Amino acid sequence: MKNNINWNFDNSYFRLPDVFKENISPFSVKKPNLILLNKNLAEELNLNLSQIENKELSLIFSGNSLPEGSNSIAQAYAGHQFGHFTMLGDGRATLIGEHITKNNKRFDIQFKGSGKTSFSRNGDGRAVLGPMLREYVISEAIFKLGIPTTRSLAVVETGEEVIRDKSLPGAILTRVAESHIRVGTFQYIAARQKKDELQILVNYVIRRHFPELDNKKNKELELLKNVLDRQLDLVVNWMRVGFIHGVMNTDNMSICGETIDYGPCAFMDAYDPKTVFSSIDTLGRYAYCNQPMIVKWNLARFAECLIPLIDNDQKKAVQIATEIINTFEKKYEEKWVLMMKNKLGLIGYNNEDKNLILDLLTWMHQKKIDYTNTFIYLMNLDIEKNINFNDYEFKNWKKRWEKRLSNNNHTDEKYTEIMKRNNPVVIPRNHIVENALNFANQGDLEPTVKLIDILSKPYIPHEDIKDYQQPSRSNEKYQTFCGT
Ligand code: AMP
Ligand code: MG
Repeated sequence: MKNNINWNFDNSYFRLPDVFKENISPFSVKKPNLILLNKNLAEELNLNLSQIENKELSLIFSGNSLPEGSNSIAQAYAGHQFGHFTMLGDGRATLIGEHITKNNKRFDIQFKGSGKTSFSRNGDGRAVLGPMLREYVISEAIFKLGIPTTRSLAVVETGEEVIRDKSLPGAILTRVAESHIRVGTFQYIAARQKKDELQILVNYVIRRHFPELDNKKNKELELLKNVLDRQLDLVVNWMRVGFIHGVMNTDNMSICGETIDYGPCAFMDAYDPKTVFSSIDTLGRYAYCNQPMIVKWNLARFAECLIPLIDNDQKKAVQIATEIINTFEKKYEEKWVLMMKNKLGLIGYNNEDKNLILDLLTWMHQKKIDYTNTFIYLMNLDIEKNINFNDYEFKNWKKRWEKRLSNNNHTDEKYTEIMKRNNPVVIPRNHIVENALNFANQGDLEPTVKLIDILSKPYIPHEDIKDYQQPSRSNEKYQTFCGT
C-alpha cells in the first residue's frame, strides 16, 4: 500500500542470512476493527496517523494491507523454558520491518497474533483480545514508570473467534521495540555450531545496539558485560516497582534490556518475596525474589553462546566469561541497596542503611502490608490509612528512619524529591486491570482508556488516582496465564 503515513522502513534484520528468519505474509483477517491507538507513541515515531480514517488504520494494523517498504518475517530463536532448552521462533508474530524516525532511531514494528508461521508448532498463531489489551496497558504503564520496555502502538479486533478453553474474540497487537533480538536468538544460532553465523549475529547486535563496542579488542566480552549491565538495571527497576515478569525464559529476555513478553506478568500487592501469579509456575522459579538470580542464570546461557568467539582456547574463554558472570551478585547488591535507599530518601552512607531497609521489608512481609502504598505513606501523601501504620513495630522503625533522614546533610526537599522520583503513586493493580478488561470484553473500552490515562503519570499524585490506589479486598489468589 502507498505510504502516506510516513513509514520509513530499512529492514536490516531481513537482510541477514536466511537461517535467521522465515519470510512470511500475515494472513488477512475477516473484519479488522481498530480499537486502541497510541497517538503519543505514533507521534514519537513521526507517523502521521491523525488524518487517517479508522477503516484504513484497521487495515494497516491488522496486517491486511502492508505498508510500502515492509518485508514481513518471523524470527527464528530458541530458549530455555523453565530451565529446558527448546527450539521456538515467532509462532504468532510477524516483524513487518524497522521504522526509522526523524532522529534516526530504529524500531521494530511487529504484529502479535498475526497467524501461523513455520515456528507455530501446535499453536494457532492467534492472540485473544483480553491479553492483547492487557499487554498494551501494562507495557505502557512500565514505560511511564521509566523502565525500558517494548511498547504498544495499536490493538485491532480481528472479527474472528479464537479457540482457547472457550471461543474468544481475536486481536492483533502492534508491538514496537528497539529490537526483538533475545538471548534465545543467540541460543538458536549457537546451537547450529557455525562460527561464521554467530559472528554475523554478534556484529549485527553490536552495530545495532552497542555501536560504541565495534572497535573494542574482545568485543564479544564487552558485549557480555554490556548486556549484563542492562539486564541488571532492568531487574533492579522491576524490583523497585514490585513488577513480577512471570516467564523469564531466555527467549523472553531482550538483548537490549527492554522488558518483553507481557504474558503472565503482574504487580505485587502485599509484600511477599515469594509472590508468583503465573498459573504454570508451580515451583516459583520466577517468583519476585528469584528474578535477579534468574537474570544471572539467563546471562550465563548468553555467555555460553559467545564462548567460541571469546577465545580460541575454550577453557580460557569459559574462565573469562565466568568471571564476568560472577560479577553479577556484587553489582546487583550495590544497585539494589542504592535503589532501596532512593525509595526511602536516604542520602550518603550509613552502616545501618541495609538493616533499616531489611527491617522495613521484614515488617511488610510479616504483616502483609501493601508494598507500593507503604512508600506512598512514607512520602506523607494521602493514602487510605491502613491501621497497620499505627503498629508499634512500624512506629519504632519510622523513628529510626526519621533519625537517619536527619543525617542526610541535605534539605528535606532534596530527599522528598528523590522519593517522589522512585516511588510510584499508582501502578496497574491486578483487580483494576481485570475489571477494565471485563468491560472491554463486553465492548466497553472506556475503563481501559481511563486506566491507561491514569497510569500515564505514575509519579504525580492527584485526585483522580484515589480509586486506583487500593489493593484488592478479595482474598482470592490472583492468577495469570501464558500464551493466551
Ligand atoms: P511465550 O510463552 O509467549 O513466550 O511463547 C513461547 C513460544 O510459543 C513462542 O515461540 C511463541 O511464538 C509461541 N506461541 C505462543 N502462543 C502461540 C500461538 N497461539 N500460536 C503459535 N505459537 C505460539
Ligand atoms: Mg515469548
